[in-house]
Amino acid sequence: MSSTSPKILLRRLGLRPRKAWGQNFLLHPHQAQRIVAALDLSGTETVVEIGPGLGALTVFLARAAGKVVALERDPALAQFLKTELFPDNPQVQILEQDALAFDFQECSRHAEKPLAVAGNLPYQITSPLLFKLMEGKAALSRAVLMMQQEVGDRLLSPPGTKDYGVLSVLIQYHFALERLFSLGPGNFYPPPQVDSVVLRLRPRAPVPAARDEALLSRVVKAAFAHRRKTLNNTLVHQAPAFGLTPEDLRQIFLTLQIDPGRRGETLGVDQFVELTNAIGVSSKQ
Ligand code: SAM
Repeated sequence: MSSTSPKILLRRLGLRPRKAWGQNFLLHPHQAQRIVAALDLSGTETVVEIGPGLGALTVFLARAAGKVVALERDPALAQFLKTELFPDNPQVQILEQDALAFDFQECSRHAEKPLAVAGNLPYQITSPLLFKLMEGKAALSRAVLMMQQEVGDRLLSPPGTKDYGVLSVLIQYHFALERLFSLGPGNFYPPPQVDSVVLRLRPRAPVPAARDEALLSRVVKAAFAHRRKTLNNTLVHQAPAFGLTPEDLRQIFLTLQIDPGRRGETLGVDQFVELTNAIGVSSKQ
């Protein structure tokens, strides 16, 4: 990597960091190395990088992977990466595009193994990107991602805590999560207003499995639609939306031994799955 600091490099390129695109560039190569090392790449794998920016992670990914596909939305940064940092390097493919529009399944068809994913994420797209990774998890082997500490806490939080929500349930269903390390704002230029955390995600085969994952999402979202309300006032109330009568749903709660006087936020991932499967079987839709 060029040892030039992001500030000086951006000035030379005539650019300013764009807040709207979450441009907080890593200052220290050893932090970038820690993120890349956490992927434990085999040397032949394909890794997809979200938001390469000035290439802080990309240079280390290029050394450790067989191929890097780097998705950068900012045309000026994509141009810099293509022409200055990785000219004529067939191993590093810089795509000027929105990561949220990237087709992971299609990309994995051209790779020998499922894809690894890396990124110091632009914070604005963290949640939609995580939903995208859940959808595309069959194409992935693992991901190491830096995100806002607050979002990391939400992903990791257990039932009954204030951070536990739709994203926690669904991500914990689809992936095994590990918290690796945190970084304060001083590690970036410009410094963000929040702390950051690096997580590793590995797709998992959940037991019990939801027979219909789209239905699982709907059930979880309905249960959390009003956090303070009980399951009686959220799911039972919305029974017709699931092709059931309120009585059907009360019977399901009885069979599963879940008290509908509880709030949705107290249900564990497995209970949401059991509930979804029972709703799926009874539904007249
Ligand atoms: N990887 C670099 C680093 O660690 O220094 C830059 C990280 S910076 C937090 C996020 C990068 O993602 C920026 O380069 C930004 O332009 C890019 N970006 C923002 N939104 C994006 C999107 N929707 N798709 C792809 N890249 C995006």
